[in-house]
Amino acid sequence: MLSAIILIAFVNRSYNRKISGEIRTEAELIAKGTEMDGSRYIESIAVEDMDDMRITWLDKNGRVLFDSEGEDDGSDIFDSADVREAFRNGSGSSTKRYTSISSSSMSHSVRLKDNTVVRVTDVHSSFAAQLAEAMRPLLVFLALTALISALLASHFSKKIVRPINDIDLDHPKIKGSYPELEPLLEKLRSQNSRAARQMEELRMSREQFSLITESMSEGIILADPKLNVLACNSGAISLLGAEGDAEGQSIYSLERSDIFRKCVQNAAGGRHSECILRLDSGDVEVIASPAKSGDIVNGIVVLLMDVTEKEKLEIMRREFTSNVSHELKTPLTTIYGISDMLESGIVKPEDVAGFGGNIRSEAERLINLINDIVSLSKLDEETMPIKTEEVDLYELASEVMNRLEMTAAEKDVRMSVNGAHVIFSGSRTVLEEIIYNLCDNGIKYNTSGGAMEVKISHIPKTAIITVSDTGMGIPKEHIDRIFERFYRVDKSRSRRIKGTGLGLSIVKHGVMFHGGTVRVESTPGKGTIFTIELPLGNK
Ligand code: ATP
Ligand code: MG
Repeated sequence: MLSAIILIAFVNRSYNRKISGEIRTEAELIAKGTEMDGSRYIESIAVEDMDDMRITWLDKNGRVLFDSEGEDDGSDIFDSADVREAFRNGSGSSTKRYTSISSSSMSHSVRLKDNTVVRVTDVHSSFAAQLAEAMRPLLVFLALTALISALLASHFSKKIVRPINDIDLDHPKIKGSYPELEPLLEKLRSQNSRAARQMEELRMSREQFSLITESMSEGIILADPKLNVLACNSGAISLLGAEGDAEGQSIYSLERSDIFRKCVQNAAGGRHSECILRLDSGDVEVIASPAKSGDIVNGIVVLLMDVTEKEKLEIMRREFTSNVSHELKTPLTTIYGISDMLESGIVKPEDVAGFGGNIRSEAERLINLINDIVSLSKLDEETMPIKTEEVDLYELASEVMNRLEMTAAEKDVRMSVNGAHVIFSGSRTVLEEIIYNLCDNGIKYNTSGGAMEVKISHIPKTAIITVSDTGMGIPKEHIDRIFERFYRVDKSRSRRIKGTGLGLSIVKHGVMFHGGTVRVESTPGKGTIFTIELPLGNK
């Protein structure tokens, strides 16, 4: 379009120039002819076919001497620029655009010697009209070209793009595509395989992590800095008594207590923190550590451990220490008091023997206590080198009976041993202590005129020692605790009957040492049966 406009403008300019030249020549010729032949000449010319040309002859007053179009009034023409110029300078030209844009006229006037003016005017189509004429086919052609181009462009672009669209990005193949894309596809392929490798590595390390953490009885929780759980093993879920999957949720969904919150927040703040949760299911130790790189906390690791047993043991250890000190202090205070009295000489000579006896019995109590503690601590020592030998349990029980004869006689308790001569291979000292303590209790907690019986028997692979008595029995609520160190059923009753509460602890540990079990059945007021089962052939 643009080039057409420019072209037409150029053509139009040279056309105008040519026409204006022609008109001038024409006007000058007609002027010459008119000068020579006057109106005759001009009229002869005007008869010829003159197309759009108009010839006008005016005198100096504007009167029309001749007009090829037969106009009488020449005032318009007389006022025109070219005529005025011709009267003034001898010749003049002007161009006039008509109101309708389709045509314009060009005039040239020449003054004759007799001071008249001949004017030649040519009307021709304007630039806009020429342009409009040329434009119509051009527009049709343009529209046609645009349509064809659009169709072709869509067809070809589809054809060009199809092989690119058809590329399987997961498995890019160079065949069937453009060779120019080869480096790109090659790169894509290598990146694909790298991504697949990394995914596999990631999957494996995740699997490994969960395999390791799932086999742990401890709980482990990994959380991001916003305290959302990234990973959490089943140990953690069961220790905290939480339900379902916690991954992706806040760590507080597992446990909401303030103490846990504080511990976790400390870790998120970059400080290692520990606390103990006292839950219904037991005591759980929480160790929360920040996972830092430099000063930035990237997440936290929370380790959970069941410390119920540990806490229990700790309590037992504390109780044991205080019990031991108490038990040691009582006889020592008595001994100290008596010896103080003896030293000051306020004791009558005949009472000295009595006080001496008291000192002896208190010292004996001390010795017994210390012996008990020593045996217990020996049994606690798992690496204890113990001499094992073949022991006839029946014989051993009889020996123990002999030792206890005096005590039984004092209490008026009948003793008996029966059963079979079962040979058990174990530590004689430990086994003797087991039987001794059970028999001692059977006599101590018996009623006057009662009975105590030891029975040795065996079933395949198991030796059984049963110690039964017809004594006072043990109330049900105490049964579970009598094997604890220093536990005695009834403090007031126990005041009368001497003891430290260590006997059954020694029994339990001794039995455990031999890989056996101990059981109690008791009816208050009727009697108690202790049954010990020891595996034969192990030791
Ligand atoms: P120790 O044996 O150390 O001298 P003790 O006899 O008091 O002291 P254990 O033998 O451990 O301690 O017994 C613990 C408690 O269990 C006793 O205090 C007693 O109340 C109860 N008990 C043990 N055996 C019997 C039994 N045969 N009949 C009734 N109560 C018993
Ligand atoms: Mg006892």
